[in-house]
Amino acid sequence: MEDSVIVVGAGTMGAGIAFVAARGGFPVEIVEPDPSARERGRARIEADALRAGDASAASRIRWLEQIPERSAATIAIEAVPEDLSLKIRILTELERALAPDALLATNTSSLSITELFNGLDRPERAIGLHFFNPPAAMKLVEIVRTASTDDRAIERARAFVERSRKSAVLAADTPGFIVNRVARPFYLQALRALDRGVAPIETIDALARAAGFRMGAFELIDLIGMDVNLAVSESIYERTDQARLIPLELQRAMVAQGRLGRKSGLGFYDYRNGVPERLDLRVDPPGGEPIEDEVVAIIGFGGIADELAELLEQRYAHVQRIENDDLIDELRLDTTMVIDTGDGTSDRGELVASMDSVLGPETVVFVDAYATDTQAAAKRMRHPERLIGYGVLGSFESQRAVEIADSPGASDDALALAQELFEQLGKGVALVADEPGLVLGRIVGSIVNEAVIAVHEDVATADDIDLAMRLGTNYPIGPIAWGREIGGARVARILNRLAQAEGDAFAPHRSLWILDALDEPEEGLEPPEPQGIGGGIF
Ligand code: NAD
Repeated sequence: MEDSVIVVGAGTMGAGIAFVAARGGFPVEIVEPDPSARERGRARIEADALRAGDASAASRIRWLEQIPERSAATIAIEAVPEDLSLKIRILTELERALAPDALLATNTSSLSITELFNGLDRPERAIGLHFFNPPAAMKLVEIVRTASTDDRAIERARAFVERSRKSAVLAADTPGFIVNRVARPFYLQALRALDRGVAPIETIDALARAAGFRMGAFELIDLIGMDVNLAVSESIYERTDQARLIPLELQRAMVAQGRLGRKSGLGFYDYRNGVPERLDLRVDPPGGEPIEDEVVAIIGFGGIADELAELLEQRYAHVQRIENDDLIDELRLDTTMVIDTGDGTSDRGELVASMDSVLGPETVVFVDAYATDTQAAAKRMRHPERLIGYGVLGSFESQRAVEIADSPGASDDALALAQELFEQLGKGVALVADEPGLVLGRIVGSIVNEAVIAVHEDVATADDIDLAMRLGTNYPIGPIAWGREIGGARVARILNRLAQAEGDAFAPHRSLWILDALDEPEEGLEPPEPQGIGGGIF
């Protein structure tokens, strides 16, 4: 039997879903009691059809004013406002109208699907079909199963989504499903960084873009609306009761002041005279003759050390590589910059202190600020003014800009040299406060952690989480793959330091240490016991 679809509610989502189903070739009915909403819905569908070059799609949609007593539709999707009792009423009506084996779906974003379907006669055919806004353009649909949903319902939902030319991921009925939940730290950690004065709004957004996000958290909140962003944050926090997901006072204050973003003219940015220009950290590598008057040394091997060596050799005439910490006494006496890359997970304070005692006072020393506590390291140095903390997460290639820790002890000359160095390598530079994780370590690390927790809690598979975040929020790479690229132990190191400064809630999940093995379990591979804050294997 050919499938046919009934959609209830012709608002932003219902109209879009009806169009998507019609374009997929399904006969569609759409129920909308409000005449003006019907008109808006029709206009929206016509605009979608025009944009898609598929005028016939609109003609496959039949409009109804109420749910019929009997419906021959085999797939029903409710998309009425986010109100538990209204939705339960609509779902009950639908269940009565449909044949016993029809699929019954809700497009809720924030309600418990289990609760919505609680009183139904046949919860086994009930499911979440979470489309994203605008449905015609967004490629992703989260299929949400409850404990009662049977496999047949999941397979039918998947076939429907695929025929509607969308990608399906499967999620358990948990607060925020995949996308809204794993995306929380993107906003919350940017807000926390702002709150703690790590960097200004424009810098945090520019760094996020330099790391590959389509937009920074603040410009995105302005686009979505702070009221909507806060509502999602609050709903997920209230339902999970996880301190790491607690909304910030700043969000509530902005909503109270009506600073909602673009729609109110003012949010983090001012839109009263149009959309403001964005700070861009992009720079072009200068080119020209190799620089003769600096002598640059790199300490470390593999990964970032190799990448750095390649970049440096293109611009500097004198580049020395030291691949073993025991060989630092081979550093040339005329070295002007030493860049330590470390192993990404260890504190390099001791090495920095020993270099301090052998190098001339003018040499600037660079250290990985994500792994090393630069302020503690500076305290052990005779010349702390020459120590510069820099931040590159996974690779130079994937990051258009480098964070530099603006530590109180660093001299202006050293900071200026750091800026010049990275610009010579074609990287933008952002000066940020010397706090654990700087900006990107904090944000990206917390997203990776949230994704790992979601896998651990069986919300979805690692692959589905990665796909969902790429398609649902345009992340440049899925968070699990990103975590593997950065290294699970490195993310854990960053978050351990963050937790030490800001509380246990931000500590790494123990599965981070076995990130490389997630979904590929190896016999005998056990994660280390949780290390607690401050202690640990690093
Ligand atoms: P909306 O307010 O734009 O549309 C809801 C529509 O339902 C309105 O046209 C309203 O007239 C209609 N309606 C109200 N009572 C009805 C009834 N008894 N029978 C039939 N229609 C009725 O809301 P929306 O943004 O489209 O959201 C709908 C659902 O989709 C919500 O559950 C929401 O959480 C979810 N959702 C929204 C988004 C989004 O970005 N807007 C994204 C994903 C999911």
